[in-house]
Amino acid sequence: MGPRVRDDGRPRLLVGGQLLLGLRAVGVTRPDITDVICTHLHADHCGWLFDNRAQPVFPQATIWFGAHDWHHFVLDPDIWMFDHIRHGFRAAAETGNRLHPINQDITIAPGVTATMTPGHTPGHLSVIVSSQGQRAILLGDAIVCPVQLDEPTWHSIGDVDPDLARTVRERLFRELEDGITIGAGAHFPELQFGRVLAAQGRRWFS
Ligand SMILES: [Zn+2]
Repeated sequence: MGPRVRDDGRPRLLVGGQLLLGLRAVGVTRPDITDVICTHLHADHCGWLFDNRAQPVFPQATIWFGAHDWHHFVLDPDIWMFDHIRHGFRAAAETGNRLHPINQDITIAPGVTATMTPGHTPGHLSVIVSSQGQRAILLGDAIVCPVQLDEPTWHSIGDVDPDLARTVRERLFRELEDGITIGAGAHFPELQFGRVLAAQGRRWFS
């Protein structure tokens, strides 16, 4: 959520996280960051891109995101987005600076690949991190909760295209069944990584 708090009334209070403190704790400064990959542009996934004055939080970083999310969030005034994020994006676009919208799978760095997983949002992407024959998928909100393996028709309240999101979830569950791939969604309980076991009916294993 970035430094902000969003209060939608009693059911929902979204509080900004501790990202910058966490980075500092591992000895990383903001100018050290060269690339930021956004799975999608919902507020709880891109709140640290720009500060309250719409200035870049990571001044040296290239920001990677799904091109279709640009049209859906940044350009459509009817879609809610934090003002400082929208203004920051638009200012960055005007200067042609450090924005990298993508609409197909692409390798961003050795062992780091973005793969398009639309449905939750039009430009949603997931990030595959691979090394020495092992893979992990950072699912963003493409799979919001492991229970969606048991209940394929349950969709997230935030899914923009629930049918497409379901199709993509099926594809991702198959990938998580291959024995070398683990994954975690951004909202998984305790952020636990897991894989899918195929024996005796598919089930989630972490
Ligand atoms: Zn989301």
